[in-house]
Amino acid sequence: MTATAQPTDFIGMDEHWSPHNYHPLPVVIAEAEGAWVTDVHGRRYLDFLAGYSALNFGHRHPALVAAAVEQLGRVTLTSRAFHHDQFGLFCRELAELTGTEMVLAMNSGAEAVESAVKIARKWAYRVKGLAKDTAEIIVAGGNFHGRTTTIVSFSTDEVARADFGPFTPGFTVVEYGDAAALAAAITDRTAAVLVEPIQGEAGVVVPGADYLREVRRLCDENNVLFIADEIQSGLARTGSLFALDHAGVRADVYTLGKALGGGILPVSAVVGRRDVLGVLRPGEHGSTFGGNPLACAVGRAVVRLLATGEFQERSRVLGAHLHARLGELVGRGVSEVRGRGLWAGVELTTMAGRLASEALMERGVLCKETHDTTLRVAPPLVITEAEIDQGVAAIADVLASAR
Ligand SMILES: *Cc1c(COP(=O)(O)O)cnc(C)c1O
Repeated sequence: MTATAQPTDFIGMDEHWSPHNYHPLPVVIAEAEGAWVTDVHGRRYLDFLAGYSALNFGHRHPALVAAAVEQLGRVTLTSRAFHHDQFGLFCRELAELTGTEMVLAMNSGAEAVESAVKIARKWAYRVKGLAKDTAEIIVAGGNFHGRTTTIVSFSTDEVARADFGPFTPGFTVVEYGDAAALAAAITDRTAAVLVEPIQGEAGVVVPGADYLREVRRLCDENNVLFIADEIQSGLARTGSLFALDHAGVRADVYTLGKALGGGILPVSAVVGRRDVLGVLRPGEHGSTFGGNPLACAVGRAVVRLLATGEFQERSRVLGAHLHARLGELVGRGVSEVRGRGLWAGVELTTMAGRLASEALMERGVLCKETHDTTLRVAPPLVITEAEIDQGVAAIADVLASAR
C-alpha cells in the first residue's frame, strides 16, 4: 500500500457485494511470488495450498509471466470464428506431452468435464451404437468434478446438491476404490467411467494399488471409455505427469485444468483418442474464450515447463520429504496422512480443520481444510525443503497448542 492509501474494509466489501458461496480465511492478499504471498498489511505467508493445484509452478513463474506478457503485445482474443497462430501449436504440444491424439481447449475445469461427458455420450451413440438418449456414465462416490448443474447431479456431497435439482439423469454412482462394485454396475448402456485417480476434494484419497488397473481392464472388456479427471491430480502434482501414470495405465480421455493455466488464467482441456474426441462436428460444442491466443500462449509455456520433467521430479523428491515430516505427526493430533508427491490429506483428531487453518494463518502458513477434519496440503512445486519444514513445523505447533 502507498503511504496515502486509506484503510479499506476489503473483507466487508466482499461480504456485502458478493454472495457468500465461499468461507475464506480472513487474509487479504495483495502480492505474491513463488511459494509466498503478501497481504495488504505487508505480512508474508507461505502458500501451502497453491490454488488447489492451479499454482503448481508457484505465483508468477517468470517463464509463464513472460509468455503472457509477450502474447498481450500481439493478440489476445479472436474467437474460434477465425484461426490464430497459437492454437494449433498449443494443441500439438499438449498432445505430444500427454501422449494423446487430440486436444479440445476449454476454460474452467467444470467445462472440461462437461465437454468429456458430451463427447462420451456422442461416442456411445455414433461409435458404440447405443440407442438415442440411453447412455449411462459411471462415477465414484465422494467425487468432485465441478459445480455446474449436470456435474452436481452426480455429486454425493449433499451441500453441493441440496437446492439445485432437478438433476441431469444418466449417471450411476458406485463406491470409489471398489472395482467389484464397478464391474457390477457396468451394463450394455455404459458409455464411460469417470474417476479421479486420486480424489482431491474428498481429502486426497488414494485408491488401492490395483483399483485403477481394474478400471482399465473393465473398460477394455466392456468397450467403455475410461475418463480420468486429472484437473487437480495431474500436471506434476503427484510426482509424475498424471496421477494415473503411477498405476501404469492410460485413460482414453483425460480432463485437465487448474495448473494448465499457469496460475494466470483459466485454461482447461479434454485430451485423448482421436476416434473419441473426433466425433464432434461444427456447432455441437464450443466456448467463446476456449483456446484463445493468450490462453494458448500460457498453456504452451506450461507444457514447456512440464516437458523438462523438473517439476515432476521436485514433487517426487520433495513429496517424499513432506510425507516423512507429516508422518511424524501421526499420534500427535493426526490419525493419518494420505497422498502422493507434494500433496497430502492430513486427518486431524484433536482439532477442527477450520480452526487449524486459522491457527496456521496466524503462524504465517496458508492452508485450507476440506470437509471438517482434513487439512489439504498442496504447496507450489517450487517450494524448497526448508520451506516445507517451516510449514510442517507450524502444523506441529498448532496441533501441540490444541492438546
Ligand atoms: C477443481 C476441479 C474441477 C473443477 O474445476 P473448476 O476450474 O473449478 O471448474 C474438476 N475436477 C477436479 C478433480 C477438480 O479438482
